[in-house]
Amino acid sequence: MNRQLVCGISQDHLINIGNLDPNNGSDRHHLQSEAALAFIEMQQAAAKDGIDCQILSSYRSFKQQQSIWDRKWIGQLPVLDNNDKAIDISSLNNEEKLHAILRWSALPGTSRHHWGTDFDVVDRQNALRYNHTIELVASEYEPKGVCGLLTLWLKEHASHYGFEQPYAKDYGGIGIEPWHYSYLPLAEKIAPHLTETLLTTTIEQSDIAGKMTVLKHLPTIFERYYR
Ligand SMILES: [Zn+2]
Repeated sequence: MNRQLVCGISQDHLINIGNLDPNNGSDRHHLQSEAALAFIEMQQAAAKDGIDCQILSSYRSFKQQQSIWDRKWIGQLPVLDNNDKAIDISSLNNEEKLHAILRWSALPGTSRHHWGTDFDVVDRQNALRYNHTIELVASEYEPKGVCGLLTLWLKEHASHYGFEQPYAKDYGGIGIEPWHYSYLPLAEKIAPHLTETLLTTTIEQSDIAGKMTVLKHLPTIFERYYR
């Protein structure tokens, strides 16, 4: 397995969901074909139960993840705390800033969104019904939130289609992401290929913001914020 696939540098392994199912609401999104077919099957089953399961975000390239990362590092995008409140990053040193960003955003190269196996889901109909713009915060996925019914449905059925939640528990690194699902049959084959050495090479060859801080703390980042 090559570094390009593992770290989101190429997307040759992906297909557009719209090519498999032109009427699909997730037609702008890219996944590996096996994961896309499993998703469509799951989505159709959810629809039969009255749930509009759509992808909000799927494949993200290294460059796209870097854009998020860079904007957070320089203060153009908010960095949120555990209560979804924006942190004043100007009061943090580089190491503190690094950990604050990593709580909710993967370091480019370590995002499971690079693989074409992982995506974030929303209940599109419910969001429209309540005129709600999804922000991907925990309250939206709690029983009374706009994606509450979707969450309950997925808890019961997602594993049948091969989908699991890699960020369902808080181990102190990445926060809980009830919206994030992973197609395990493929993802568990990719995960072991992302080693610390491969990540170091990828970061060294990049021009990400805070590169020196990142490289200095790379072993910790790898241990705490990647799974
Ligand atoms: Zn995600």
